[in-house]
Amino acid sequence: MSLKDRIDGVEQRIGEACRRSGRKRGDVLLVAVSKKFPLDMILEARRLGLQDFGENYAQELRDKQKEAGDGAVRWHFIGALQRNKVKYVVGKADLVHAVDNMALVAELDKRAAAAATRVRALVEINGGEDSKNGIRGSGLREFLEGASGFRNVLLEGLMMMPPYFEDPEMSRPWFSGLREMRDKVSGEFPGIQELSMGMSNDFEVAIEEGATILRVGSAVFGPRPK
Ligand SMILES: *Cc1c(COP(=O)(O)O)cnc(C)c1O
Repeated sequence: MSLKDRIDGVEQRIGEACRRSGRKRGDVLLVAVSKKFPLDMILEARRLGLQDFGENYAQELRDKQKEAGDGAVRWHFIGALQRNKVKYVVGKADLVHAVDNMALVAELDKRAAAAATRVRALVEINGGEDSKNGIRGSGLREFLEGASGFRNVLLEGLMMMPPYFEDPEMSRPWFSGLREMRDKVSGEFPGIQELSMGMSNDFEVAIEEGATILRVGSAVFGPRPK
């Protein structure tokens, strides 16, 4: 299958899921997860109409961004970010998806200030016992309150990576849970609106449950190189 066929197929499925759930296509952003795929493929996907690309290794993002040049595409950093890699991402990624500790918020804030920019980011919520990443929902309010002191980091929503299930319906309670968490805090923290959830195997369910950002890799680019 060609890249164009894959992208068309994903677009069609997104469109259908939006129609089923009474949502507007424009309210759902597709981030094509390009980790381990060569820049050539990313630029081809850009020519085919995609604008947003997700990477989860900091040096890989830095290298691809540099080679592509400023403004060629919009980059998202979707992986776990170590503090010593923040410098590769600030000013390069449009959105950092997986912030889950205050030391990282502080480092992002410091680097953003130094670069006279601001960092847009999402808070990662833990997606199950097998994952070490993400904060617990019960700690979210306190985390948001603490992070609000860092003026150069704009927290705009929540992100989650639930366990992998063969059956996408199994992801549904995780996605609805994340939406409920957002709804609970967005009164007090009105900046918290985005829901980054849904991957190749379950993005339609994610749309039905309110996803505003999808992170879709293999359904767009095909099987990932090792
Ligand atoms: C790799 C990755 C994805 C995309 O996975 P696919 O199953 O290829 O769609 C999404 N989110 C994160 C955090 C990832 O690391």
